[in-house]
Amino acid sequence: MKREQLEKYAELILKTGLNVQKDQTVFVTAGLDQPEFVTMVVEECYKAGAKEVFVEWSHQPIAKLNANYRSLESLSTLTPWAKAQWEYKAENLSCRLFIESEDPDGMNGIDQDKMSKARRAQYPIIKPYREAMENKHQWCIAAVPGKAWAKKVFPNLDEDAAVEKMWEVILYTSRADGNDPLKAWKEHNADLASRCDYLNDLGLQYLEVKSGNGTDLKVELNEDGIFCGGDESTLDGKVFNPNIPTEEVFTTPKAGSVEGIVFSTKPLSYMGELIENFSVRFEGGKAVEVKAEKGEELLKHMISMDEGASKLGEVALIPYQSPISQSGVLFYNTLFDENASCHLAFGRGFNECMRGFENYSKEELERRGINDSMIHVDFMIGAKDTCIVGVKKNGERVQIFKDGNWAF
Ligand code: ZN
Repeated sequence: MKREQLEKYAELILKTGLNVQKDQTVFVTAGLDQPEFVTMVVEECYKAGAKEVFVEWSHQPIAKLNANYRSLESLSTLTPWAKAQWEYKAENLSCRLFIESEDPDGMNGIDQDKMSKARRAQYPIIKPYREAMENKHQWCIAAVPGKAWAKKVFPNLDEDAAVEKMWEVILYTSRADGNDPLKAWKEHNADLASRCDYLNDLGLQYLEVKSGNGTDLKVELNEDGIFCGGDESTLDGKVFNPNIPTEEVFTTPKAGSVEGIVFSTKPLSYMGELIENFSVRFEGGKAVEVKAEKGEELLKHMISMDEGASKLGEVALIPYQSPISQSGVLFYNTLFDENASCHLAFGRGFNECMRGFENYSKEELERRGINDSMIHVDFMIGAKDTCIVGVKKNGERVQIFKDGNWAF
């Protein structure tokens, strides 16, 4: 890919994604195989006035060795230096950038039972830091093509060609392939905001989701719930885009109030392993039955991580005609695949999807219907014939999606 276009992409990530401010600290998490692009990003951070930029390199083969060789006890504790780093992040409310490039099933074969137990043990240690940072710092997830990932997506191309093709589709779907990605994103954010306004004015109580594959779901929405999409703001008003790309208009439904069955329309990569062709039946707001052609055990593990893991934290609307589904590429990566298709998420809900959330305590938000969990995992349910009807409090029905696309 031409350096000039990559520089535009790096600038988009920094300006539209993170919106780095003068004197901010930036933490970048990236794969070890991406030194050139990460260097560009670090330079953009400093150009934007960052005080300091720290890169945390990750390398999946080493993560896999750690998962295999470290004991459950060792994996369950947070080292003093890791703790100190969380403290530093929370105190400085630094920007956090995650650059994804990993092989979607590069962790295949690890002991998922051990890893789930380790995550459960670590979660209460990390939780206070996460909560201290929530809605107070800018963050962004974007992607660059790792070699194994590119080969997984384009198995018929040789490695170099696959990586190049991956760059093309990443930049295209991220609206970063044109002359002025910053302008393209300004327009895109405005479009998403106007759709949110329309939906929020309707004051919907329920969404009914139906597709020809058997999906038939009724989801209750929160009183005072709002749809969000595109850019977000920190509590002190810094605007940022948490996901590049993003196509979704989403909300957090009322925890514990969903009935029906959904069928997945894309594979799900979770903890470095794939779950494929699965269905989930909800009763009384919880997943009570899951079936999967591949990865059923992992799926069961996932939804039993904690009390909130089997409840919904998100319902997101994405037209079937989004650039990502138009690309026809299956990315095996949630950042992209979630933006190709309507999806739901198991686990934690989003505080900002409730009006006036900043005035409520964590407990009050939970009481009002925002689900809490250590996980938040999107899974795709949108199909080309998905039909969604919104039901208002007075029973009036409004067509929201028709044949997989916006009806308004
Ligand atoms: Zn989502």
